[in-house]
Amino acid sequence: MARDYYAILGVDKNASDQELKRAYRKLARELHPDVNPDEAAQARFREVTAAYEVLTDPEKRRIVDMGGDPMESAGAGGFGGGGFGGGGLGDVFEAFFGGAAGGGARGPRSRVQPGSDALLNMSLTLEECATGLTREITVDTAVLCDVCSGNGTNGESKPTRCGTCGGAGQVQSVQRSFLGQMVTMRTCPSCRGVGEIIADPCRKCSGDGRVRTRREITIKVPAGVGDGMRIRLAAQGEVGPGGGPAGDLYVEVDEKPHDIFVREDEHLHCTVRVPMVDAALGTTMQLETLIDGPVEVDIAAGTQPGQTVRMQGLGMPRLRSSQRGDLVVHLEVVVPSHLDGKQAEALAAFREAAGADGPEVVSSRSQNGAGLFSRLRDVFSGR
Ligand SMILES: [Zn+2]
Ligand SMILES: [Zn+2]
Repeated sequence: MARDYYAILGVDKNASDQELKRAYRKLARELHPDVNPDEAAQARFREVTAAYEVLTDPEKRRIVDMGGDPMESAGAGGFGGGGFGGGGLGDVFEAFFGGAAGGGARGPRSRVQPGSDALLNMSLTLEECATGLTREITVDTAVLCDVCSGNGTNGESKPTRCGTCGGAGQVQSVQRSFLGQMVTMRTCPSCRGVGEIIADPCRKCSGDGRVRTRREITIKVPAGVGDGMRIRLAAQGEVGPGGGPAGDLYVEVDEKPHDIFVREDEHLHCTVRVPMVDAALGTTMQLETLIDGPVEVDIAAGTQPGQTVRMQGLGMPRLRSSQRGDLVVHLEVVVPSHLDGKQAEALAAFREAAGADGPEVVSSRSQNGAGLFSRLRDVFSGR
């Protein structure tokens, strides 16, 4: 079905070119992406621009007036953007409002630009995350050129005014388009908008004011860092063009998994297998902790499968705090899978002494939350 281009612009079927222009200008002022970044507004702006382009083209307008759709017949792909007029949006906008669309910078821009941030990865063991450390790292970034100190010039030579743009950083270009003659400003190709030329550039940096260098820097990693955290080193990133101020350097922690301990924020978890008899009678064991050496863990008489022993203050340090999380020891009670004759005899005697209690059906939600479902969950989460 043909689109109603007149309705899209909000004008009469017999609107003059002047009226079309006025209507389009009014809509463009509220819908142009530079003014209104909203997605819907941008789609509408493309629509409005296409309508304007169609109705100001006598041939296309004739097709519309005959009930057709010139955008469809031309196979232009509708309002997809870029389907019409070959990058016409910027030109149309410039024709009305002057200057370059999307910034509208006037006059020469500075040769000196701020540098960008840099990102490095650092692989740390869980122990290193727990204790913190100081490490030398190799950084490969742009640094200030030490020969010209960022000026980009050789010795005492000075930059000269650009002959192409006369120092303005921009040049005019005249184009013919469906709106008639248009004058647009473009970044000067000779000086790239800076307005001056370094005729005698620094031999070391070729006029850029910076050079790429490998260097060693010392980084202090605080205790308690974890996977994905970033340590910021101010002004250790890339020096900008023309020796502009350096960006920041970020070092992102990549925490290696540990064989024994699983981290949950500032808490640590580990699993201990307890033989059935030790669980029933109670015992103590030596546990080698992450950074505190061996500690004694009390396993109470009557310990049930899945019970935990919480050891306060033996977990990970909290960042920027003297406090530490806990170590949670998960007790897994192990039933012997094979008994020799003597053991079987002893257990049979135990059964005799324990009375007639045999297996019994209970609710799956029983035993203070340690029922079937929470145990399944523990299996899946690897606890
Ligand atoms: Zn230099
Ligand atoms: Zn220039």
